Amino acid sequence: MIIRAGVLYDGTLAPPKRNVDIVIDGAVIGEIRNAAEGGAYDLEAACVTPGLVNSHAHLEASGEPDMMTMISTTPTNQRLLRAVENARKSLYAGVTTIRDVGSSHGISIDVRDAIAAGRIPGPRMRAAGAVLCMTGGHGWPIGRAVDGPWDARKGIREQLLAGADCIKLIATGGVLTKGAVPGNSQLTYEELAAAVDEAHRHGLRAAAHAIGTEGIKNALRAGIDSVEHGHMLDDEAIALFKERGTYLVPTLTAPTCILAHLGEGTQPQYVVEKAKTVSEAMLRNIRRAYEAGVTVAGGSDAGTPYNYHESYAYEVELMHSMLGMTPQQALHAATEVAGALVGLQRSVLAPGEAADLIVLRRDVGSDVRALREVDAVLKGGAIAYRAER
Ligand SMILES: [Zn+2]
Repeated sequence: MIIRAGVLYDGTLAPPKRNVDIVIDGAVIGEIRNAAEGGAYDLEAACVTPGLVNSHAHLEASGEPDMMTMISTTPTNQRLLRAVENARKSLYAGVTTIRDVGSSHGISIDVRDAIAAGRIPGPRMRAAGAVLCMTGGHGWPIGRAVDGPWDARKGIREQLLAGADCIKLIATGGVLTKGAVPGNSQLTYEELAAAVDEAHRHGLRAAAHAIGTEGIKNALRAGIDSVEHGHMLDDEAIALFKERGTYLVPTLTAPTCILAHLGEGTQPQYVVEKAKTVSEAMLRNIRRAYEAGVTVAGGSDAGTPYNYHESYAYEVELMHSMLGMTPQQALHAATEVAGALVGLQRSVLAPGEAADLIVLRRDVGSDVRALREVDAVLKGGAIAYRAER
């Protein structure tokens, strides 16, 4: 298959290529060459980018206004069906790689395997299984409670047994769990360090949910691979991020969507109050961290209130508007950088790399919102989605 692209962003920060033919050879990119005058092609694209990588999602949730209560009260079979549906929606919106960082009953693991076996449509996937949290801690409806470093190790081993291929640890309170204060540390440094050591020993990367300042630094010092949210970070945390090369996944969409839907009156008051506090910290700190050189990776926390799996493009828009990234830098954070964090493939368009790409109707470099209008999605060289004209 040959795609003729008016402009091609390859996922890196290299200048975009104009008027090129992308030659797809089976599941990978064969060649990218100047468009031959009058030569044949199969698909014409105003703009082509790599498939997006959402490094922070919860497939079993669909943006319900009270996610934790929904998970606690909805039968498992129903949540599995939602996860299947959300995997398809993600893919059709251009997300070709996704990391599910916490689900109940191993739902994300089964969905990952069904996608890999070609039984259902969805992005390439990593799945954390249950989050490891303290007893009664943030995320307990999708969690395995661990108390003490040895129990944390056992929790990791249980996720391994269940088939997890990444690990999620809860270092602080969070917005969506009743009673969990985002600024407060939850798993201790000792628990986090034991868990990270155990995860790494088995070749699994570990992500930490961390909003409060001390918890962020506990996770960084414990050797975590990515800090999720990170909203109350301080200068010392910024220095630790840079020194250790830890990724920051700021999930800008999550608090933004909560606050954008206050009028509906559908969300628990504690969620609204906590989201306000967290959002203020986010607006104060995340741009500062990015400008100081912290590596920011795209991840939206899709599944949280009003934060839909098919709307990952919004996170790219927010990285542009809130963090001051150019559209290309925001795209880079949501492709090559997030892809490196997830660790399945390079998520760039170059010869020999997987032919995971999006066909857009407009140049995303001149308007980041072009990502909302996906014309076609290819995964592994095959057309996964094509919009009706
Ligand atoms: Zn999350």
